Amino acid sequence: VAKRRGSGFTVYDPSIDKSSQESLSLLSELRRALDRNEFLLYAQPKVELATGKVVGAEALVRWVHPEKGFIGPDNFIPFAETTGFIRMLTSWMLNRTAILCAELQKKGITLKFSVNLSTRDLLDQDLPTHFADILTRNQLSPSSMCLEITESAIMDDPIRAQLTLERLHGMGVELAIDDFGTGYSSLAYLKRLPVDELKIDKSFVMNMEHDADDAKIVKSTIDLGHNLGLRVVAEGLETLAVWHLLKQMGCDQAQGYYMSKPMPGDRFIEWLEQWKA
Ligand code: C2E
Ligand code: CA
Ligand code: CA
Ligand code: CA
Repeated sequence: VAKRRGSGFTVYDPSIDKSSQESLSLLSELRRALDRNEFLLYAQPKVELATGKVVGAEALVRWVHPEKGFIGPDNFIPFAETTGFIRMLTSWMLNRTAILCAELQKKGITLKFSVNLSTRDLLDQDLPTHFADILTRNQLSPSSMCLEITESAIMDDPIRAQLTLERLHGMGVELAIDDFGTGYSSLAYLKRLPVDELKIDKSFVMNMEHDADDAKIVKSTIDLGHNLGLRVVAEGLETLAVWHLLKQMGCDQAQGYYMSKPMPGDRFIEWLEQWKA
């Protein structure tokens, strides 16, 4: 299953049609990884640009494989999505994130935690009640969590996706459109779906300081989001100069390497204590 390509380690490459044997073994490795607790929850802070206050965090999964070591999500999430394993992983992420969110609340720190959903999750009729159970068990109000979805995840089966999203939103859970600007039919979905937050894709944000077109796209997206009554979050904030630009453009929040890379839960708590904008 493992291949070396450049310096990166690739577990799954959808462009290569692998034998069903290989897919089976990766699937069983993923299942075993859940049993053996090889997945880690990482968190990346989100700050309010006007004040520098940390207001939330995005939960991101990592896999520490016993032989292959540290594996990033881009190397197994696409495979997990094709097999349906993603539903188990999403459930694990929702549980772990709720536990971390509740732990922080007990320390008096209230942050909104975001978890990523995939296409399969949106087609899962049981997700809303399952998630409601997780929230209740951790004594969390639904609005303390946000679910991020991409436009392409919605496109797969828009009618069923909308139904799931309406049920989640009806419970009080917040919803965000992720990677905004990279998908298609963005505007029709923004208008129709019960969305609270719009996340501008990092590909537009990372170079906006040097690329005038990127800067214009970011500014227009911020205005569009605000005109629709949405909170606008920029991802990929890597420099102080971009912070100032985004703040000047009226962007609400941002996440990015300038503040911090994603960190394991315990380090995230330490980081919060020392953060000064
Ligand atoms: P995403 O949801 O768009 O997550 C943001 C990605 O951008 C993260 O990569 C994060 O580390 C990276 N990032 C944040 N700030 C910066 C920055 O300033 N510069 C640069 N260059 N990158 C930045 P990561 O953690 O490798 O995740 C990649 C993708 O994998 C995610 O993209 C998401 O689509 C998927 N993913 C990660 N965890 C999960 C999960 O639990 N469930 C699902 N369904 N997908 C996940
Ligand atoms: Ca995301
Ligand atoms: Ca994103
Ligand atoms: Ca992405």
